[in-house]
Formats: sequence, C-alpha cells, structure tokens
Amino acid sequence: MPEITQTMLEDALAYGRAFTDQGRTAQYIPYLRHVDRDLLGVSVRTVDGRRFSAGDSKTPFTVQSIAKVVALALALRDRGEKYLFSGRVGLEPTGDPFNSIIRLETDRKPYNPFINAGAIAVVGAIKGRSGSEKFERLLRYFRRLCGSDAISLCGEAYLSERETGDKNRALAYHLKATRMLEGDVGETLDVYFRMCSLYVTAEDIAHLALVLSNRGVDPATGERLMEADHARIIRSLMLTCGLYDESGEFAVKVGYPSKSGVGGGIASALVDRMGIGVFGPALDARGNSVAGIAILEYLSKVMDVRMF
Ligand code: GLU
Repeated sequence: MPEITQTMLEDALAYGRAFTDQGRTAQYIPYLRHVDRDLLGVSVRTVDGRRFSAGDSKTPFTVQSIAKVVALALALRDRGEKYLFSGRVGLEPTGDPFNSIIRLETDRKPYNPFINAGAIAVVGAIKGRSGSEKFERLLRYFRRLCGSDAISLCGEAYLSERETGDKNRALAYHLKATRMLEGDVGETLDVYFRMCSLYVTAEDIAHLALVLSNRGVDPATGERLMEADHARIIRSLMLTCGLYDESGEFAVKVGYPSKSGVGGGIASALVDRMGIGVFGPALDARGNSVAGIAILEYLSKVMDVRMF
C-alpha cells in the first residue's frame, strides 16, 4: 500500500478543484448560501503521528451533520448501546433524504443516528439537567475528539439554523408525540441547532476521524476518548449511512467510513491508519461536498485503501 505523502495530498487537491463549480452551497440555510463555494481544503492525520494538509485546511466552516458523530459517541457513553439502539434509534440506512419525515409515521423509531430524526433522538438521550448543560458537555467532548480548544459556536449560523429549522422542529415534535423523545423538545432542538453550528476546520475533523480510526484512542495524547466498540459501531454506521442517500454510491466509489455535513465537510476514518478531513462547500443534489468526494476518491485510489 503506498504511503500518504504531501505531494499526494497536493495532487488530490488539484484534482478536486475541477469539481467545485459542479455544485452549490446549501441553499436552505441562509448562512450557508453565502459561503464561497471555491474554498477547498484537505487534511490527513495518521495513527503514527504524521500530519499533512493542503489548501484551505485551517478555514473554519460549520460542522453540520458531522456533529451527529460526536452526539452519538457521547450518547453511547452516557446510555450504552442497548438503551440507545433498542429504544431510541435504529441501525439501518434509509435511502431517504437526511431530513425526511416519511418513515416516522409508519416505523416510529428513526432508522439511524445520522438522519436528522435519528440525531435529534440521540441528542435527547445525552445526559444533562438542562439544554445548556447538555450542550456544554457536548462541546467539551467535541473539543477533545478534535484535539482543539478553539472549537466554538458560529452565532450567525446558529441563528440562521434556528430561524429556518421548521422541518427539524416537525421531526422533533413528531418524535415527542410518539414517545420516542423524552424531555423538553425546545431544549433538545436548541442543542441540535447549536451542535450543527459549531465552527471546525478540515484539520479538526481529520483529528476526529483519526480517533475513530485508532479505535477510540487519541494517538497524540494516548488518551482513550471512547470505547473501542463504540468507535467500531460509529465507523460501521458511517459506512452504511454517513453520506445520506448517497452512502451506497460513495461506498463503491471511495470505500471507507465517512460522515458528511451540508457545511461541506467530510470526515473519513481509515481504521488503524488515518483520519482524513476535507472541506469544500459546493454540494451535490444530495447534500454532499462534490469536490470533497472527488478528493477522497482520488486518495482512495492512489493509496489503494478501499475496503472492498
Ligand atoms: N443543520 C442541518 C440540518 O439539520 C444539518 C444537516 C446536514 O448537515 O445534513 O438540516
């Protein structure tokens, strides 16, 4: 297997650049409409301590759905696998768009933790006496998993998210009505909106993916941040459900566990090898970074790391 090099990363970035004009930034959240779609960055962190970055790898963007990975990790820590997956959320891909409501009426339990309904149910399961305590716990854990204390809220994105989040409200109230969500719906939604609006960089999400690929231990500090089995569960879900209703196509093209967000980020965890973070805000029709996918596809080919 060829080892990753800085040149490889620069080449992947150059390859990805040809794709930025094939997508557009998310239009349904006003804040995201105005992000420069030509931004592009990639960052790699390996389990043996090497770090590479190219392009806009230090440019902050909103984490959006990649936060669902952190929420799931914390809820697993708080409640365990049995509580979460027997009662709150499933483990199956849907093939539906990320914010779909259609199956909630027939199946009650959201299909998986990476669709919006599932993530809201997961946020509801995080321990805390209030919404702000839950969010503070989540933020602290976020920073440790990303190896950065700089992660903080983008206030403008949060307000924008809150203002236009009626579909998420509909999902949350539906979950509440069917007793799939405990506690105060408004508080749970607020934690959800806040976690989606956290500012991260490609380097930060590469670190998050690195911890997942290193079976829950941060190789930079030697600290265990999640149980190995939880990291395995999360990687499995990233592979089957991480790119919304494009997860199957992505598994064929790229072939390693990844999670995208409509802010343009994708975090990829290559078990026992490395974490990769890409950022390119121009999205395809299903809400995934067009150039980000191109970069990951390029890297998976040159490094010969596809799982299948
Ligand atoms: N904040 C976004 C929403 O809830 C996150 C969606 C995403 O990144 O897929 O609609």
